Amino acid sequence: MGNIVYYTTSILVLSVFVFIFLERKYPYRKGLKVFREGFWVDLIWYTFVQSYFLQIIIFAWILYPLRQHYLANFNFVTNWPIVWQVLFFLVTHDLYIYWFHRWQHHSKILWKTHEAHHSNKEVDWLAGTRSHSVEILINQTIEYAPIILLGANPIVIPIKALIDAVWGMYIHSNIDIKSGKLQYIINGPEMHQWHHADQREVFYANYGTKFAIWDWMFGTAYLPNKKPMRFGLYYKFPKDYFLQHLYMFKKVDEDKLLEIKTFKAYYDLRPKLFKFLGLIKEGQTFSAEEHVMEQQPHQALAEELK
Ligand SMILES: [Zn+2]
Ligand SMILES: [Zn+2]
Repeated sequence: MGNIVYYTTSILVLSVFVFIFLERKYPYRKGLKVFREGFWVDLIWYTFVQSYFLQIIIFAWILYPLRQHYLANFNFVTNWPIVWQVLFFLVTHDLYIYWFHRWQHHSKILWKTHEAHHSNKEVDWLAGTRSHSVEILINQTIEYAPIILLGANPIVIPIKALIDAVWGMYIHSNIDIKSGKLQYIINGPEMHQWHHADQREVFYANYGTKFAIWDWMFGTAYLPNKKPMRFGLYYKFPKDYFLQHLYMFKKVDEDKLLEIKTFKAYYDLRPKLFKFLGLIKEGQTFSAEEHVMEQQPHQALAEELK
């Protein structure tokens, strides 16, 4: 088991460099920086801190106790070859996630769990990691429940996690890929970059994660011969990780909060630390200083959709 985690982690780290390289070499949109706005929030908070704690909750607190107490001897898939186990969970989970994702876009309550994922104004290999912890808690518990409860081989977990991570980076990556007929089956940036567009024609389209076939089968595919003009949400959304979480329960206005001295001091901690470490240059700003979002050019659409 230790070995497989070593291999999957190495492949994951290597993939990050490959995606960053391909984004520079063949950009979907030119000029997108590696350290784009929100990069550190996605990397530190969503990728490392949030995942670490959610894994403990999902596996140690929910799924393993469930298995031990109720289904300790239930071994439905145990004797299947590993490849079949992985394929089975890959396809069944992807079909589930297609419908749940579609539901999230149609239900006002479920949208609250998903809007953070759409809040990046610039979409790249890392942007997909931004998902509200409630969304991850629901989706990953449902994803790994059958793997653990049906008695899958334990190595299916790191293999599936690696496939999720690499495929997630791929569909969000800013790489200009034309996969031709393959796009009818396998999802990629061509369709998922559009899913993140702040454009009316895709508000209810391209829900597929790994397989695009669901979108083509169920009539929600959108793949025009052009690229999106805008990305992200059509309304103001906080840039701070904790406010992004709080937004689910209360529509907080980050601008107003920044008028409070202690909040501003907390908000400026990160840029100050980065300047201290020399990671951003003097005079270069981010976070609080540049945080006031531009007025959306299509406010009328926002009003119309209320
Ligand atoms: Zn979505
Ligand atoms: Zn996405």
